[in-house]
Amino acid sequence: MNYEPLRDTLGRGGMVILDGGIGTEILRRNVTWADHQLATKPEFVRGIHEDYIRAGADVISTNSFQLSRRALCNHFRDDTHRHHIGARDLDERAGLLLAASVRLAAEAREKVAAKRPVAVAAAITTLEWCFRPDLVPADEQARREYREIFGVVKQNGADLVLFETVNSIGEAQVAAEVAHELGLPCWVSFVPAKTGKLFTGETLGDAVEAMQRKNVDAVLLNCAPPDDITTGMKQLQPRAKIPTGAYAHIGRFNPPEWMFTDEYPPAKYQKECAGWKQAGARILGGCCGTTPEHIAALGALR
Ligand SMILES: [Zn+2]
Repeated sequence: MNYEPLRDTLGRGGMVILDGGIGTEILRRNVTWADHQLATKPEFVRGIHEDYIRAGADVISTNSFQLSRRALCNHFRDDTHRHHIGARDLDERAGLLLAASVRLAAEAREKVAAKRPVAVAAAITTLEWCFRPDLVPADEQARREYREIFGVVKQNGADLVLFETVNSIGEAQVAAEVAHELGLPCWVSFVPAKTGKLFTGETLGDAVEAMQRKNVDAVLLNCAPPDDITTGMKQLQPRAKIPTGAYAHIGRFNPPEWMFTDEYPPAKYQKECAGWKQAGARILGGCCGTTPEHIAALGALR
């Protein structure tokens, strides 16, 4: 598999179905989220990818939310402190787990996709917490870290990068430049606030234009309630010249985990997605709290 089948589908205005929540799906199946379960329960994570492929997803995203060296290091005062009190493998752990996350998704595809083209998207979020643009690192520092992260996912067979829950244009530009430099197709998915703007106050119209200048392949909206995605879509769409998409979360954030609610059962979520399709979106899926049943319901929108 490579990115070409997706480029063709989107190029002729066809629909692409993305998978649903993975971290939250691990929780829903009553397993805790420690270490993403990549090392301890690989068959369990692979099983969720398989369920999303069976549900009709054309793109499955890796179980790698905030899986970075920085996220692990942030628990410590500094390097010396980490080396003093931390587990011995913390310097290598993120890279190894990230590699495993891509391989597990590829194995799931191998097992159940048969001849249907299914792409593996490396799901990477911001370096600092995804809802805190005030913490974004300086460009050159971010560039070094994205080179390391995107290099690992490319080497392990990711077909594209899904740079998701992005909260600022600046960090998105750096990540997009690195993806381009490595020859990795890149989708950037911004998180809209209630106003439909980014948390920085930047507009989605400006965001999509900036991404177009950086050769990004698609711009999406994610990790916000359906109403906020709808508001954001209205602002994004008029200036979008590349494919767009959306995947909302359903339920409530209950740090560090997720609270499931029954506000958006699959049929109701499908209606929201139909609205985004009507507005021009061609890539649809689900974020936190969505399940294989939600993704199966999107098949009717093709
Ligand atoms: Zn989410």
